[in-house]
Amino acid sequence: MPVPDAVAIAHDLEQLLGADCVLANATDIEPYLTESRGLYRGTAAAVVRPRDTPGIAAAVGYCARHGIAVVAHGGNTGLVGGSVPDGGVVISLERLNGVVDLDAADGTITVQAGVTLQRVQRAAEEVGCLFPLSLAAEGSCTIGGNVATNAGGTAVLRYGNVRALVLGLEVVLADGRVLDMLTRLRKDNAGYDLNHLFIGSEGTLGIVTAAVLKLFPRPKHVATAFVGSNDLSQVFAMFERIRGEFADSMVAFELIPRNGLELVLKHMPACVRPLSEGHNWYALVELASPSTQSELSERIEEVLAQAIEDGEVADAVLAATESQRNALWALRENLAEAQRCDGPSIKHDISLPLSSLKAFIDEATVACEAEIEGVQVCVFGHLGDGNLHFNILPQAGVDAAGFMSETARFNRIVHDRVSAIRGSIAAEHGIGILKVDELLHYKDATAIDVMRSVKLALDPKGILNPGKILKRLA
Ligand SMILES: Cc1cc2nc3c(=O)[nH]c(=O)nc-3n(C[C@H](O)[C@H](O)[C@H](O)COP(=O)(O)OP(=O)(O)OC[C@H]3O[C@@H](n4cnc5c(N)ncnc54)[C@H](O)[C@@H]3O)c2cc1C
Repeated sequence: MPVPDAVAIAHDLEQLLGADCVLANATDIEPYLTESRGLYRGTAAAVVRPRDTPGIAAAVGYCARHGIAVVAHGGNTGLVGGSVPDGGVVISLERLNGVVDLDAADGTITVQAGVTLQRVQRAAEEVGCLFPLSLAAEGSCTIGGNVATNAGGTAVLRYGNVRALVLGLEVVLADGRVLDMLTRLRKDNAGYDLNHLFIGSEGTLGIVTAAVLKLFPRPKHVATAFVGSNDLSQVFAMFERIRGEFADSMVAFELIPRNGLELVLKHMPACVRPLSEGHNWYALVELASPSTQSELSERIEEVLAQAIEDGEVADAVLAATESQRNALWALRENLAEAQRCDGPSIKHDISLPLSSLKAFIDEATVACEAEIEGVQVCVFGHLGDGNLHFNILPQAGVDAAGFMSETARFNRIVHDRVSAIRGSIAAEHGIGILKVDELLHYKDATAIDVMRSVKLALDPKGILNPGKILKRLA
């Protein structure tokens, strides 16, 4: 059967879903063709905005019958071009934005996939619970997108990433059938756990339409410290000290370099220098406890005082109020945006065993800074999870395009080292379009074969987000 042209596709989908669910003119579909960083621009015959799961199933079923590509579109905050269409139909989840059920006794919240992360956090808060996924794009990104990218965020150390927060999913399969796995079970060994196939699959195996998520007791005590140190090995010693002292109460341990903090202070006028003097490295540390008995603030003060005496820490400040806590977090959360304001950067989102991090940072920094005179490494991120954003900032006077054309050269330097110590070249942002070749280069060939088999089994016509994660199947 020949693939219908764009006009026929829009017409058929209007018949199927109703005219108000279909966008087809160039101006209306434009916002769905690019991603937030503007790295890629796609094309699409139409955008559909169904109101419910049956509407999504009908749209996918139609595309399956005609061999038309389908791309799921959430909040469009992804950083690797995953939601950029390559022809075909964009399926926007924007109208599936409801909280379906919240059960504090079960500790679960059931939501449609287009709901924003922030809305889920707030709904949990209203009943005294916590949904712990937290990241700088939480006002716009959706639960479907979080699931599809297996998002991590700032509390992985304590609560895990999305994979650990999902109890069940509802997914529209590539042939339009609905796979309903919306249970609230904490244990279920009845065959393969299919939820996990779809988590982190970036819309290439199915379209997530709803999710049951885990809730946690809301912390009654939170202590947030911003710590300055002049030596990276001391930062790691401090991490060990705090982990030894507080174990599971440590929610976040974020690394910020001197040049990163200076960029934030330069470009974000609302941000304030947290410590009177500059230091080579900073850590943002957060501890939390659901116990009413907790003395976290007093204890972290004592631990940091001892760390200062032992020379691990040069200076530290503890947030005394919620607004001071927010101000400290703003320094971390604005890092990526401050870099963007300053100009181009070549980014690497990598994950390594904790024990290898320090040597990797030292060695890869020297190698990158020796490669082109004047470039600077700016490495920051979720140190406690072994996840670094290892970014290269340009030398003075170079134009953006000229600098970005060196990406492959720096990728090799960074990713070869990551691979040699069995790290990952994609820690939390996924593969999308950006890292398709890198994945093929570094991932074990047998693993790639198995991934292709899974793709073929679930999407034999290759209509779901083609060309993302894996190259298009021939
Ligand atoms: C400022 C900023 C900070 C960030 N910080 C972090 C961080 O600390 N940790 C972290 O892990 N990530 C971080 N991210 C990345 C973030 O996790 C993703 O951008 C987000 O999870 C994607 O959600 P979205 O709704 O915007 O998805 P989109 O950008 O719309 O889509 C992303 C991918 O998921 C697919 N998709 C979307 N919805 C569905 C669905 N319902 N079913 C199937 N597939 C779907 C798309 O096709 C695409 O491949 C950050 C991003 C930004 C912009």
